[in-house]
Amino acid sequence: MTQAINSTQALYRCLPAMDSLLLIPQVIGFIEQQGKPWIKSLLAQMLQDARRQIASHHSLPNWCLDLGDISTELAERIVKAQRQSMSPVINLTGTILHTNLGRSQMCEAAIDAVTQVMRSPVPLEFDMGQGKRGHRDSAIAALIHELTGADSCCIVNNNAAAVLLMLAATAAGKEVIVSRGELVEIGGAFRIPDIMAQAGCKLVEVGCTNRTHLKDYAAAINENTAAIMKVHTSNYHISGFTKVTEEAELAALCKDKGIALISDLGSGALTDLSRFGLSKEPMPQQMLQDGVDLVSFSGDKLLGGPQAGLVVGNSELIAKLQAHPLKRALRCDKMTLAALEATLMQYRNPQKLDSQLPIFRKLSRPLVELERFAQELQQQLASSSVFDVSIQACQTQVGSGSQPDVLLDSVALCFAVNTNASKQKHAPSVLQLDKWFKAASVPIIGRIAANQLWLDLRGTDNDNQLIEVLTTSLLSFEDKRMEAAS
Ligand SMILES: *Cc1c(COP(=O)(O)O)cnc(C)c1O
Repeated sequence: MTQAINSTQALYRCLPAMDSLLLIPQVIGFIEQQGKPWIKSLLAQMLQDARRQIASHHSLPNWCLDLGDISTELAERIVKAQRQSMSPVINLTGTILHTNLGRSQMCEAAIDAVTQVMRSPVPLEFDMGQGKRGHRDSAIAALIHELTGADSCCIVNNNAAAVLLMLAATAAGKEVIVSRGELVEIGGAFRIPDIMAQAGCKLVEVGCTNRTHLKDYAAAINENTAAIMKVHTSNYHISGFTKVTEEAELAALCKDKGIALISDLGSGALTDLSRFGLSKEPMPQQMLQDGVDLVSFSGDKLLGGPQAGLVVGNSELIAKLQAHPLKRALRCDKMTLAALEATLMQYRNPQKLDSQLPIFRKLSRPLVELERFAQELQQQLASSSVFDVSIQACQTQVGSGSQPDVLLDSVALCFAVNTNASKQKHAPSVLQLDKWFKAASVPIIGRIAANQLWLDLRGTDNDNQLIEVLTTSLLSFEDKRMEAAS
């Protein structure tokens, strides 16, 4: 016992003192580059970790024993701490618009536009002598008018904010009628009844889950009704004995009764998606034609732009939104507006959308091309001594609650532990490989199903990068195993 305590104390005595660490020439170099407070706190962390190791394992970390090793350890910790948490990953999950992976990738024009407005002042709300600029959404409003025919628009942080503002500005203190079949939960705590309450509106539910008729809406209207709201059931689908009341019918009713018809559209595709084999998504321009007063949708779902919420439609109502105090709290910054403007400009030329916007580039990529790419990858990875790499048909989903029923044909590269390796003593697993890929220089994110790691190739937007990262990562996985075995 005494012996053990003595040896532990001896280990503690081996730890260098902070003052002596700060005198190591390489450490002085780091202090010059990075400043003393941060380097000192990293060193303190190293000493703390060493003390923990002594306490739990009665041993010293290797770096304690050599001055050179101390600075190497410090250098590694500096690099690790400087790695940005939001570095690029390769999304091969099979979900293109993955909310947890940041939804849409921006088009090059948007990236350029954002970079420019980051570098310099821009006339965000500034009249440049032409008496044109009213507010920060004016430029987008002109584009939206051009693309959808909408009189006006209001841009906020996301579609949840758009719905909140739309309700608060048009119906606070009053009743809003919604079909029971459209009381949607989007995820991340966006539920129509909750948003209604936050906006200060009284939700009036009508109809049944599967069927809501025009007469149900008509019967619920009274002198306290401000609006009827339609909600696009973007993330689920009710089939069978169903009846939804279409916007055009409701528009006539609302006009007759002098109340507003508003619509939460969710995804907001501005182009017909049937050419990708996707079902026809209701489009804002169609809704406006049908007589809806205000339509809201997301910027980073099927639009393919930055996170934003767009409310488009009737200019009198939009003016109310613009004047509401919530707008000030929910407004977008210049980077979002620049990215959104550049993205919307792509819609002037629908022919080129499939090559310009990453979302459409991925959705429109021909299956044969994916198959060819899969074969190339398979050949590159054929030398693996641990994994069988096969090519399998799979299906990609759009994601972010868009088009829940539609799956696009795709191709996956599948990794399974080969028979030989699975018999070894410390057999590798696809879980380990998944973890390893997630730690690659550019993390590769797939999904595990049926004991295989699936990489859905429709998710890549940079084939060469994927080949490079995948081959390097698999090779290093196998090298590490060999090392561990020897
Ligand atoms: C996605 C969605 C929302 C939320 O949009 P965010 O941009 O994620 O805030 C709201 N309503 C519907 C119908 C949606 O599909």
